[in-house]
Amino acid sequence: MKFLKVTPRFLPVESSGMRDIDCWHEEEFRRLATEKVVRLLDGTPTEATLAAAVSGCAEDAEAICSDRPMACTAGCPYCCVLNVAVLLPEAMRIAQRLAEQTPQRELDELRKRLAQHRCWTRWMDDEERILKRMSCPLLDQYGACSVHPVRPLVCRAITSLDSESCREAFAPVVSDEDRLVPTDLLRKAAYDAAFTSLAAGLLSCGLDDRSIELGTGVIAFLENPEYRELFLNGGKLPAALWL
Ligand code: SF4
Repeated sequence: MKFLKVTPRFLPVESSGMRDIDCWHEEEFRRLATEKVVRLLDGTPTEATLAAAVSGCAEDAEAICSDRPMACTAGCPYCCVLNVAVLLPEAMRIAQRLAEQTPQRELDELRKRLAQHRCWTRWMDDEERILKRMSCPLLDQYGACSVHPVRPLVCRAITSLDSESCREAFAPVVSDEDRLVPTDLLRKAAYDAAFTSLAAGLLSCGLDDRSIELGTGVIAFLENPEYRELFLNGGKLPAALWL
């Protein structure tokens, strides 16, 4: 079992039991996952092939760790307060799902909440986010992720083996004690590799491989549907989004 410090932020701590990670062929995983992305996107990428590339990376990572324990369940929102970076196709897919499945009035409200959250958290580190309970605006009223089937790779990478530890570790109190969450580092490594493989595949196909803050990326694609074509044609979204 391994531990992450949650104050001030996630830090892997040395412990016994590194065998699982040491036995994992990370380079091979990256190579195969990147090749799969390139096969899907080389030529004329479409929204469908882009979505398939993102899902393929998530599925490949899940295949590495699907039989391993995890305490995370729908409606457990403790860690959904941390800063999340996504690749642009991930943001595009989330925006598309929200646009297709959310009634217009709710979508307008969500857009406002995303913009407000972005404004409030722009300069916050994870510790400040925890202390001020800056939960992700994509959580629904029951504390579940409203975009769970298309949630970011980074969100899939952060998991816990003990939800009680998460409740304590993410409590908004000031403390100089380490608050530890037992986590499966192999799962984290697999999803981190899926993220970098997707980015490498995008780059190989001449597509923008930059990451962006989750809310900023989702709002950008919700409010500017033309960014989808721009991205698919190898263009760059405005630099102002990253300021
Ligand atoms: S996208 Fe979903 S899983 Fe990720 S932080 Fe937001 S609510 Fe949590």
